[in-house]
Amino acid sequence: MRLPRLKFKFMDDGNVLRGPRLGAAPCLAMNAAPEDLAAARLAMVDEQIWRRNISDENVLAAMRQVPRHEFVPAELRNRAYEDLPLPIGEGQTISQPYIVAAMTAALRLRGTEKVLEIGAGCGYQGAILGCLAREVCTIECRPELAAQASERLARLGYVNVHVHCGDGTLGLAELAPFDAILVAAAGPSAPAPLMDQLSADGRMVVPVGDTENQELHLIERVGGIFRTTILEPCRFVPLVGAHGWKDFPFR
Ligand code: SAH
Repeated sequence: MRLPRLKFKFMDDGNVLRGPRLGAAPCLAMNAAPEDLAAARLAMVDEQIWRRNISDENVLAAMRQVPRHEFVPAELRNRAYEDLPLPIGEGQTISQPYIVAAMTAALRLRGTEKVLEIGAGCGYQGAILGCLAREVCTIECRPELAAQASERLARLGYVNVHVHCGDGTLGLAELAPFDAILVAAAGPSAPAPLMDQLSADGRMVVPVGDTENQELHLIERVGGIFRTTILEPCRFVPLVGAHGWKDFPFR
């Protein structure tokens, strides 16, 4: 039997949790067996994502498939399916599963798209996008994280996800246009180069705001017109770069 859907939208991504909580998080042993991790992953999708009204079956299937525990530090593997962002090193986080699903669903991918992600982090969001699109380019500004994400994605077989190292606020002009762009860190506004690199009917999801107040924006392009819809409050690590914050403003 499926659990009833929740009426609220959960808000969060960074280190501080807000909003109503779900029931007790699944508690796995440090050396959890593969079948326990798989069961926890299915429960994560049902309880944290489907119940929060994400119903795109392709997104749910990708979230059931990608082994999130392979993307977090070894000492946090048993917590990979909890309703939380988790640290991935260098003060950065892997986003809470719900926000990964919500941002991905907003892009309405059909499998033919070329997608750009800004903020590869550990590579998890890139892997989810890789299941749903033709090709994914993901940019990470921290060389160590970029190298680890690249190695991990290759080892796990995500051959259509390519990690680039650099300032993602500049996009990748040489590979543009992109059918969809997902920005996984929050800046003061949607970076202008990314708007330019969106295809004529492209979509971008980007968290916009400062350390305390951020909103997830969906920007849909129709030719020269950009229409912005505010989806929900959120909380991300800072987008640092030429078209983001100029330095680390909040940490
Ligand atoms: N999507 C990631 C989580 C992202 S955390 C995952 O699935 O794990 C945000 C990431 O954005 C961090 O790794 C941070 O280093 C990176 N970042 C911040 N500003 C950036 C920029 N201008 N270009 C590329 N990466 C950036």
